[in-house]
Amino acid sequence: MQLKIRLYGDPCLRAKSKPVKEVTSAERMLIASMFETMRAQKGVGLAAAQVGINEQIFVIDTGHDALAVVNPRILRRSGAQSGEEGCLSVPHLQVNVERAKDLEVEFLDEDNNPVRARISGLLAKIFQHENDHLQGKLIIDYLTAQERRQVLKDMKDGVYMGESNGHEDMRA
Ligand SMILES: [Zn+2]
Repeated sequence: MQLKIRLYGDPCLRAKSKPVKEVTSAERMLIASMFETMRAQKGVGLAAAQVGINEQIFVIDTGHDALAVVNPRILRRSGAQSGEEGCLSVPHLQVNVERAKDLEVEFLDEDNNPVRARISGLLAKIFQHENDHLQGKLIIDYLTAQERRQVLKDMKDGVYMGESNGHEDMRA
């Protein structure tokens, strides 16, 4: 089932997500719908907060790796990478974000099994973008104060509204 993606201004995007007690069939159904919604929007990541559910769940599909992540923790960060990121909840906006290149992470998978892994590159970048969503943080927060004022003004003028045009590199 495709879910409605919440757009910038929706309070769900700014709320802190709560840990999941146990991954059950209810969470697995949500995860399946999140994968479907993300792929329909040609996204590479989607957090539950983006579909109005403030639980610590996100999905990633780089085209190479597909991952369902519950209750993530980033244990270690190293190196640096940066590049333009787009967000399904803020259509048309691209922000250059600096991220760690390599991560050591732990989380629960969709079968409630604990996973500990080292990830890097695009997968690590998306992991950090989605982890931000669970804290109520958005790519717009990485702009300078001046850039943010301009973007908020453009938003008021309707520049960022409507369907994404699909030309962005990474939407998550
Ligand atoms: Zn996003």
